[in-house]
Amino acid sequence: MLIPKKVEAALNAHLTLEMAALYHYLAVASWCDSKGYEGSASFYYKQSAEEQTHFMKFFNYINQVGGHAEVPELKKPTSTFKSILETCKKSLEAEQKVTQSVYKLLDIAAKEKDHATQAFLNYFVDEQLEEEMQFSRLISKIELIGSGPQALYYIDKEIEKLATAQAGANTK
Ligand code: MG
Repeated sequence: MLIPKKVEAALNAHLTLEMAALYHYLAVASWCDSKGYEGSASFYYKQSAEEQTHFMKFFNYINQVGGHAEVPELKKPTSTFKSILETCKKSLEAEQKVTQSVYKLLDIAAKEKDHATQAFLNYFVDEQLEEEMQFSRLISKIELIGSGPQALYYIDKEIEKLATAQAGANTK
């Protein structure tokens, strides 16, 4: 089976977004690490690793269906942040962009009657919903905890719990 050219081009364009997400999370993890937010750093390193698996799923799929996956060119990501809350807001924005791109890919695949690609993309529809919900919940929680003297400690612990929960889910 050969992938329609328009779908191949759109999937290649999407690779940039998955790799940009990897870069973003890695930059955030490093900022958290340098500030001593160990729990948050651990969570964001895991997010970054997860983006690599997303990237590779798209990359391998393109080649599997007779296309040619190309390594994208990327800009340096933002490397400093005002607060942990800001890192969550930027992450939600980045994930919303990825979601829009996945929806656009589905539209293109549908127009080209490419059912295989539509089936492939369904996993990412679920995945994106999860990612967006995770950051929305986190932002609400951080806003609830507030910015009192002990707030940062609790926020870092809350985010660490997410990293631990993910590690548990990955071993299932
Ligand atoms: Mg992703």
